[in-house]
Amino acid sequence: MDYSELVEVYEKLEKTSKRLEKTHIISEFLKKVRTDSLPQIALLLQGNIYPAVEEKKIGVAAKLVLKAIAASTGISSDKVENQWAKTGDLGKTAEELIAKKKQHTLFKTDITVKKVFDNIRKLSSLEGEGTVARKVDLISELMTSASPSEAKFIVRTLLEELRVGVADGTLRDAIVWAYFGKDIGFTYNAKENDFDVKDRVLYQKYADAVQTAYDKINDFSEVIMVAKDKGLAGLEKSSLKPGSPIKVMLYPKAEDFKEAFEALGKPAQIEYKFDGFRIQAHKKDGKVILFTRRLENVTRQFPDVVKFVEEHVKGDDFIIDSEAVGYDVKTKKYMPFQKISQRIKRKYDIHEVAEKFPVELNVFDVVELNGENCITKPFRERRKLLEKIIPKEVRFKIKIADAIVTDDVKKAEKFYKESLEAGNEGVMVKSLDAPYQPGRRVGGGVKIKPVMETLDVVIVGAEKGEGKRAGWLSSFLIACRDEENDELVEIGKISTGFKEKTEEGTSFEEMTELLKSLIKEDKGKIVVVKPKIIIEVAYEEIQKSTEYSSGYALRFPRLVRLREDRGPNDASTLNEVDVLYNKQRGRHS
Ligand code: AMP
Repeated sequence: MDYSELVEVYEKLEKTSKRLEKTHIISEFLKKVRTDSLPQIALLLQGNIYPAVEEKKIGVAAKLVLKAIAASTGISSDKVENQWAKTGDLGKTAEELIAKKKQHTLFKTDITVKKVFDNIRKLSSLEGEGTVARKVDLISELMTSASPSEAKFIVRTLLEELRVGVADGTLRDAIVWAYFGKDIGFTYNAKENDFDVKDRVLYQKYADAVQTAYDKINDFSEVIMVAKDKGLAGLEKSSLKPGSPIKVMLYPKAEDFKEAFEALGKPAQIEYKFDGFRIQAHKKDGKVILFTRRLENVTRQFPDVVKFVEEHVKGDDFIIDSEAVGYDVKTKKYMPFQKISQRIKRKYDIHEVAEKFPVELNVFDVVELNGENCITKPFRERRKLLEKIIPKEVRFKIKIADAIVTDDVKKAEKFYKESLEAGNEGVMVKSLDAPYQPGRRVGGGVKIKPVMETLDVVIVGAEKGEGKRAGWLSSFLIACRDEENDELVEIGKISTGFKEKTEEGTSFEEMTELLKSLIKEDKGKIVVVKPKIIIEVAYEEIQKSTEYSSGYALRFPRLVRLREDRGPNDASTLNEVDVLYNKQRGRHS
């Protein structure tokens, strides 16, 4: 397939912010795509070259792309850089410069989707001497044969900033409309930007089947093939595989046990809610592999946990779900997440930090065991299985999560107090009958923790410091996630809670280091950064505001902690902010 056909779709998507219209554009396109290009198209539509489950990343810096643009247009790097400073978007710069260069020649390009895909994949496998030059060559090769708009999207793909707004939900629905439209009597009304289906129930069934398959496999390039070739039955059969990370199950918040029991039924299981970070431990072909909730492979960073799982969990292959919690070596008390978080990204001295910041693995679920999927089994049975495969618990190594089963609010409250005293965040209340729902937040359980509401927000920009903070970034522009439109919307600025000295906690210096390599645009006093860093913030109040694109502003926001274990997709949503805002009004009136 010609890359220009995909670019046409990108351009249409760019022109609308309406979700249904985007879905329609994609579904019409998918109907035309031949099976051999389909996996690549599924990834490229979201600006990806690798599915999230793969460890490989494109990993090219803007500077390198800049060099390639210079090389392929014959324009000096300085000039390209000046132009980039003006547009703030290297993709746009590539488009303009290539248009200028080619304006006198009638160009017809024959660059294929496969060529773009292969060249970018090659980039990430290059290692060793002469790598930079070879990378520049691979990119220039694409640039030389690209039309201006093709160049724009190639550059944006390379920099992982496609910006055409295709959320997971949009792609999911497009798959349903494209391949099952006939079965459900689907019609799209372009004028009204609305759609109709003859059978709503069936429509929901298909949408759920695609979503569930995606939550298990986490790779649209595979899901789309199953949907097209094997239909509903194939989707429903798709299963978890040890070695491939899954989206873990999540839990909404409840105010108290009364609400929890009402939502989940009685009795329910109440568990400690540990203040650590989520680890899914897989065993496949005799090897233990660890993933975070963001599907990152952290096996290397946690040799201690690998050992606990190897020694204490029985089974030929499995996937278990757990929380790794740090504890103080001397006092043997649980430590807040912040202290151990540095282990997640650590690349050197791994054994040393493992000794300094040890963790205890608290296992609370099993989703696959010895070739059998357990997700449809009720939680009470999964817990029994857990007890079978972890017959011996060892404090400060590996345990099954502390829990009670009760229908009594008083007993539940006592256990909650106990949990807080042990240094935990609160408790989880889990329905004994619920299946394990990868990636979902409904039905299976709720969390209960003390009142302070916090938000997980993404840093999207920063201000440079002055005076004693000169040289650092000292104020951070924060955003939450507008799920409907698949974009980040700003909600305030924060500088309180960061420390002047790194020994004291998360410091301005540390933040500056983290954000430096993510700067997309330097506008003098402020910088725009790639949205990668998540922080948890507390605040006095949420106010309506016209200053920020979310329509809200946080009053007196302060840093609670850096969340190395989370990514932009884990950030709080605009919907959650709406709910908190309304609740707060209820409190005040
Ligand atoms: P929150 O960050 O407040 O949304 O809480 C959700 C997180 O709590 C999950 O992602 C888990 O990492 C963590 N957690 C701690 N203890 C448990 C538990 N017993 N069961 C499930 N999740 C837990």
